[in-house]
Amino acid sequence: MAHSTSVLVIGGGATGTGIARDLALRGVDVTLAERGGLSAGASGRSHGLLHSGARYAESDAAGARECIEENRILRGIAGECVRETRGLFVQLTDDDPAYFDAKRDACEELGIPVDVIDGDIARDAVPELSADVERAMWVPDAVVLPSRLVAANAADARDHGGDILTHAPVNSMTVEDGRITSVSLGGEFSETIEPTVVVNAAGAHAGEVAELAGVSVEMRPTRGVMVAVEHGGLGPVLNRCREPADGDIVVPHEDEVVLGTTSVPVSDPDEFSREEWEVEQTIQECATMLPSVSDAPQLRSWWGVRPLYEPDEAARGGRGISRGFFRVEHADDGVENFVSIVGGKLTTYRRMAESVADLVCERLGVDESSSTAERELPGASEPAELDAFVREFDGQGPTDTDLVGR
Ligand SMILES: Cc1cc2nc3c(=O)[nH]c(=O)nc-3n(C[C@H](O)[C@H](O)[C@H](O)COP(=O)(O)OP(=O)(O)OC[C@H]3O[C@@H](n4cnc5c(N)ncnc54)[C@H](O)[C@@H]3O)c2cc1C
Repeated sequence: MAHSTSVLVIGGGATGTGIARDLALRGVDVTLAERGGLSAGASGRSHGLLHSGARYAESDAAGARECIEENRILRGIAGECVRETRGLFVQLTDDDPAYFDAKRDACEELGIPVDVIDGDIARDAVPELSADVERAMWVPDAVVLPSRLVAANAADARDHGGDILTHAPVNSMTVEDGRITSVSLGGEFSETIEPTVVVNAAGAHAGEVAELAGVSVEMRPTRGVMVAVEHGGLGPVLNRCREPADGDIVVPHEDEVVLGTTSVPVSDPDEFSREEWEVEQTIQECATMLPSVSDAPQLRSWWGVRPLYEPDEAARGGRGISRGFFRVEHADDGVENFVSIVGGKLTTYRRMAESVADLVCERLGVDESSSTAERELPGASEPAELDAFVREFDGQGPTDTDLVGR
């Protein structure tokens, strides 16, 4: 049976559920289709670091500004999806002091609050820190629990009339007279959807989904490993203060820390090799900041695939410089009612969603503005309610399995 909807969103990561929430709050009839459980893609497989923007401050002022703004918004609306840990950028003996100074200056210019401390004071705050830490800088980084965040966005969309379909892969699309007229879902929903507008928020799979409508979105999917090891009581996120490289982030959980990551292009975001050297290198590099992780028991490791946009990556030359987002309007390719959203970060998902929802509302003639920056997510102050949403939508992802009651 065919099911009509104003907007079909493909992909149930942070971006897709954020778009569904934004549109539903504006009174738009929206359906979201996710091929697995929610947050099964990059969202549930990231570090789970809510960036303050400090990581990008000296290289990408616009991206850093987006991060600090969204960081503040999420602290306000996402409650128990976020853990207030703060972050420390640490300079080791071999790291370039000029890089540290440039980051500090750029943060100050952008209004990202920093507090520079010497190595001994840093070790008072984090006793296990390496003796090689010469100085450090506090920044307002935090930890985000992606499966809760994604499920809470979906729950809010559902509460405002949206349909959230999980285990509903988009298998094919029919394009007639320059418009997508129907979309076939497989899995548990062998159904046909007749949408007015289609949004492709399929992350690293955005290229494949675009092909179903006969258009092209050039992606450069890039894998990164994460390793969780036993380690209790690390307070802040640790960032190595150097040009972004492998193994320069340690994210604190309660009884473990998550170490990351690598950056290796892959040709298929589902089928790619998972190399032991990535695990070893990540542990070894993170141990330069926190030596005890080198022989801590390993609890799990996993890979995520970044949904990077090839034209941007090619222009910028790769890692760490920018993780900006891109709206690709396929009207320019001859498919009127189709838009893709690619790139970005978990930290900026809400802003990405608002930007797409603005475009969709313009197309639909809906004159409501976004309210997602002001409205608290449902269950925000109730971890048990958030975890119930995760279970309801079959929330996936190894990033926060130790902290979320699935
Ligand atoms: C290793 C790594 C570490 C990272 N660390 C951080 C971090 O610490 N902080 C941060 O801010 N960002 C981080 N990121 C980036 C961040 O995770 C991503 O940018 C963000 O989660 C992307 O969200 P998304 O919803 O766009 O994509 P995804 O979360 O990948 O969601 C896309 C969804 O589409 C679904 N899908 C695909 N094809 C179909 C189909 N045919 N039909 C239906 N559904 C389909 C997938 O199953 C998936 O769930 C990291 C990324 C990686 C890989």
